[in-house]
Amino acid sequence: MKGIICKEPNVFKQIEVEMPVPREGEALLRIRRVGICGTDLHAFSGNQPYFTYPRILGHELSGVIETIGANPFGYKEGDQVSIIPYLECGTCVACRTGKTNCCTDMKVLGSMRMAV
Ligand SMILES: [Zn+2]
Ligand SMILES: [Zn+2]
Repeated sequence: MKGIICKEPNVFKQIEVEMPVPREGEALLRIRRVGICGTDLHAFSGNQPYFTYPRILGHELSGVIETIGANPFGYKEGDQVSIIPYLECGTCVACRTGKTNCCTDMKVLGSMRMAV
């Protein structure tokens, strides 16, 4: 599939990306919309200190579920979804007490972790 990567600050490049295979607990989405926010603009211009390059930008996403396994939420292929890009660890003190937004090992899709 086609992707656009920020190769280095101020340089986008179209690339071919291997189709991701969802692992257990994950779904494969066909992305329909991507928002662009200040984080992306800073990353593109090279002013986001914790970013490394190359990187596929974008963490405000919505789309349609292409593939999903059994899940306790009732999601199924064809469902329209938006994505919360924050991936909490589930094991730190904050996560165990339900404060996942304070996770000590938080990863953000499109920022700290590739969305593909
Ligand atoms: Zn954002
Ligand atoms: Zn955590």
